[in-house]
Amino acid sequence: MIAEILKQYGYKKLNDRPKYPKERHWPSDAAKCLRALVYQWRGEQPRTREGRFFFILSDGEAHHKLITQQLEEAGVQVTMKEAPLRDPKLNISGKLDALIKFNDKYYVLEIKSINRYGFDEIIRDGPKEDHVIQLQLYLHFVQNLFKIDAKSGILLYKNKDTSSFYDFQIDYNEMVVRDFFEKLKIVEENIARGTLPERPYERTDWHCQYCDYKETCWLGAPADSIAQITDEEFVRLVGDLIYTKSQRKEFEVKEDELVKQVKEQFKKRNLTKSQIGSYILELKKSPMRRLDQKKLLASLGLGDKELEQYYETKDVERLDIKEFYE
Ligand code: SF4
Repeated sequence: MIAEILKQYGYKKLNDRPKYPKERHWPSDAAKCLRALVYQWRGEQPRTREGRFFFILSDGEAHHKLITQQLEEAGVQVTMKEAPLRDPKLNISGKLDALIKFNDKYYVLEIKSINRYGFDEIIRDGPKEDHVIQLQLYLHFVQNLFKIDAKSGILLYKNKDTSSFYDFQIDYNEMVVRDFFEKLKIVEENIARGTLPERPYERTDWHCQYCDYKETCWLGAPADSIAQITDEEFVRLVGDLIYTKSQRKEFEVKEDELVKQVKEQFKKRNLTKSQIGSYILELKKSPMRRLDQKKLLASLGLGDKELEQYYETKDVERLDIKEFYE
């Protein structure tokens, strides 16, 4: 009953407000498809969205506010919070999560709250590229608009499911900012010419699946010619694989939760080793080795880009399975 009221409320908040053409660039545009941005500037009607997206956005804002407040309570000097930024020359607006002072240095703080899958991914693969671009833009504006000497920023991730934190310190890189401004130029040129940038993704790509302009963008485009599997044995095989994958995910989540609970019990009982039947359980610290790329680059006197030459690219065969909605 109450859930339905909230669902309707979220839907209304998200979809009932008047849709105006976009008037300014935003740092968060870094995450968007250029073609979608042109649609937004043109004032194309976006698709209606489920009410839960409203709560995802407002939960994110609430998390950011709370984390900044908790940082202050923890003794971190927060010099600015939720500070609006506006560069009229470039026609960009944004809102800085926080500027903090730590060990006599200023850092731009960009906070992201994500789910456990995203969180595991960033720990494994590093921060998301569009988040790094946003942070770089805020560093640029803090230096150029506020004339504050902030050379580094901190990208702070919060796992919404477990309330764990993970952060990355990222140095200012002017090239990243310039690349972003070049992208904005492409958007502006297309708007002025009345054209659209090429579609950078396939129709089945997740960017298109979640895009507000999916219908407009793909309207009239010839359907992809994908071979349909009808062979019963093959269909069953794929079905088994999809089912197994979904089960594995569920078990992984359950396993993580159980491990957490067992660890808590160990700590509560002041145990490091115990036995249950033929099972020995031991809670111990084991070293995790990680290559510190920053230190390596500094000792070799190289920049981020120069590291590229040491990467080897090899094609590996992989089977992607993604759900596609018409
Ligand atoms: S549907 Fe895909 S290609 Fe088209 S605007 Fe959206 S993200 Fe870009």
